[in-house]
Amino acid sequence: MYDALTSRYTFSCPARGETKVLLSAFRSFERLPGAAHPAVFRVRFSCACGDEHDGLVSHDDLDWAPLGLAAGTFVNLMTSRVEPLADELGDLAATRIKAGEWPWSFFCWPEERPRPVFPSSFFLLAPGGRSLGLAVRCPVCQGLSVNLVSPAHVDVPFHNDAHVGVVEHVFADDALRTVEEFRAELYSASFDARRLSLE
Ligand SMILES: [Zn+2]
Ligand SMILES: [Zn+2]
Repeated sequence: MYDALTSRYTFSCPARGETKVLLSAFRSFERLPGAAHPAVFRVRFSCACGDEHDGLVSHDDLDWAPLGLAAGTFVNLMTSRVEPLADELGDLAATRIKAGEWPWSFFCWPEERPRPVFPSSFFLLAPGGRSLGLAVRCPVCQGLSVNLVSPAHVDVPFHNDAHVGVVEHVFADDALRTVEEFRAELYSASFDARRLSLE
């Protein structure tokens, strides 16, 4: 499913049979009701064939596989702690998280502060020029924020842009339902640069 060597997810493609995509090729994320352990997400992704398709990704593959962390490791975003960590203490990613480095982060507009985040809190992604528009549901305040980031900010764990663009706008819960609405919002919105430092 996730190949750590190429940082790509494997999905099926009606035209090519199989396709491998980076996280930044994902367009929408939807947690499916029901299955809780592990949770399953339906994602829509942009395929090399030119089309967009749906695929299923487990919560573990979304958040942990890019870090090489074993399933079951729990990072508590409320306390910023990696919580039962007994088996993973030697793991580089866990060590970095414990040292206060975060694999992913975003600027929460409702709270006016940077926050650590995991891809399972991503909501919508859409390219806009050389940047990516990233809509995130804040794991702490549940508010919706839209950042403008580099593809590496999404694809490379522990690569956090020093500055991100932030849409200065509070979104209603149902404001961004589709990638199309999101793209329109990205083109009309004004962005303000924010420092993305979690110290
Ligand atoms: Zn395809
Ligand atoms: Zn927040």
